[in-house]
Amino acid sequence: MTTRAYAATSPTTPLGPMSIARREPLPSDVEIDILFCGVCHSDLHFARNEWGMTNFPVVPGHEILGRVTRVGSDVTKFKVGDIAAVGCLVDSCRTCDHCLAHTEQFCKNGAVFSYNGPDKHSGGMTFGGYSERVVCDQAYTLKVPANLDPARAAPLLCAGITTYSPLRKWGAGKGKKVGIIGLGGLGHMGVKLAHAMGAHTVLFTTSEGKVADGKRLGADEVVISKDPAAMAKHASSFDMILDTVSADHDINAYLALLKLDGSMVIVGVPPSPQPLRAFSLISPRRNLAGSLIGGIAETQEMLDFCGKHNLACDIELIAMSQINEAYERMLKSDVKYRFVIDMATLKR
Ligand code: NAP
Ligand code: ZN
Ligand code: ZN
Repeated sequence: MTTRAYAATSPTTPLGPMSIARREPLPSDVEIDILFCGVCHSDLHFARNEWGMTNFPVVPGHEILGRVTRVGSDVTKFKVGDIAAVGCLVDSCRTCDHCLAHTEQFCKNGAVFSYNGPDKHSGGMTFGGYSERVVCDQAYTLKVPANLDPARAAPLLCAGITTYSPLRKWGAGKGKKVGIIGLGGLGHMGVKLAHAMGAHTVLFTTSEGKVADGKRLGADEVVISKDPAAMAKHASSFDMILDTVSADHDINAYLALLKLDGSMVIVGVPPSPQPLRAFSLISPRRNLAGSLIGGIAETQEMLDFCGKHNLACDIELIAMSQINEAYERMLKSDVKYRFVIDMATLKR
C-alpha cells in the first residue's frame, strides 16, 4: 500500500514528504491508522546520522498510537476500531533466550526496530511512525488504557518504557532516593514514574526555568546541576540516578552523588564518548550501567501502570510540517516536555 510519510533523505536535508510502501496485513498483522506520533530525541539523532548507523531515506517515529483499520485472520488481540500502539520494536526472532525471557530488545538474532531496521517482509528497511499508517504483528502491538488521552499516551511507547524499565530493575520505590538527570521527554516521565513508585525523587536540570515544572511533575527536590554547591549537598546519598541527557556532560559530577553500592543508569546517548574517572566508581564502591527501552511485556506493564496511576506525558501538539522546527527547539532543551505530531495534518 502506498503510504504518505515524512522522511530525511540525508543527514543535512530537512525532513519532507515522501511516499513509502506498507505491506498488506498478513494473518497475524494489525493495520493501524496513525493518529499521533511522539518525537523522540533518537529520531533527531537518526535523521542527522549522529550515531553513524542511519540508512537513508529514514522515516523516524517510534511512539505510535492510532486506530485499528484492518486485522489479519489470526488476530485475536485487536478488532477494527480499537486504539492500538506500536513502540520501538516491531519484531525479533522469538526463539533466542533473550526473546524467551521477554527482553526482545536484546534479541541475539537482531531485534527489528520500528525504523532503520531490516524489514523481514519487504527486504528493505523498516519505516517509522511519521506516516499515515503502520502494519505490525499483533505480538508487538500494545493496548493503551482507555482512561489515557491518546495524544498524551503516545510518547509512553518510548519515553515511558525507557524510564520505567530501569526504575523497576534498580528498585525505585519507597525508602529510595532516586535522581533523574534532564527534564526532557524521557526525564519528565522518569520524574513522574519515580514519584508514582514512591521514591524520593530529585530532578537535576541545567534549565533554571524548569524548577517549578519539575516540582509540579513530581520531584521532591530540584537541583540546578550547573551549581557545584547545590550538587555537593547531595554527595554520596543516592540509591540510583537515571541519566537521560542527549548531549555531552560530566558524568563524574553525578557519580559522586551515589552512595555505597548505588547505581547510575545511562539511557541518554550523547553522540561522543563521555570521560569516566576511575575514582568516581571505586570510592565508595559504585555501579555504572545502561538500559535500552524495554521488552514488549514490560511495555504493556508500563502502559497498565500509567493507566492505573492516570499518568501520561506533558505534550506540545504539532503539525507534521513543523517537525524541523521542533528538532531545533529540542536541541535547545526547549520542549514542554514532548512534541507529539497530530498525524491528521499529514493527510490533509
Ligand atoms: P530531550 O527531550 O531532548 O531531553 C534531553 C534533556 O537533556 C534536555 O531536556 C535537557 O534537560 C538535558 N540536556 C540537554 N543538553 C544537556 C547538556 N549539555 N548537559 C546536561 N543536560 C542536558 O531528549 P529525550 O527524547 O528525552 O532523549 C534523551 C536521550 O535519550 C537521547 O540521547 C535519546 O537518543 C536517548 N534515548 C535512549 C533510549 C534508550 O533506550 N536508552 C530511548 C530513547 C531515547 P534540562 O533542560 O532539564 O537540563
Ligand atoms: Zn525513543
Ligand atoms: Zn531473539
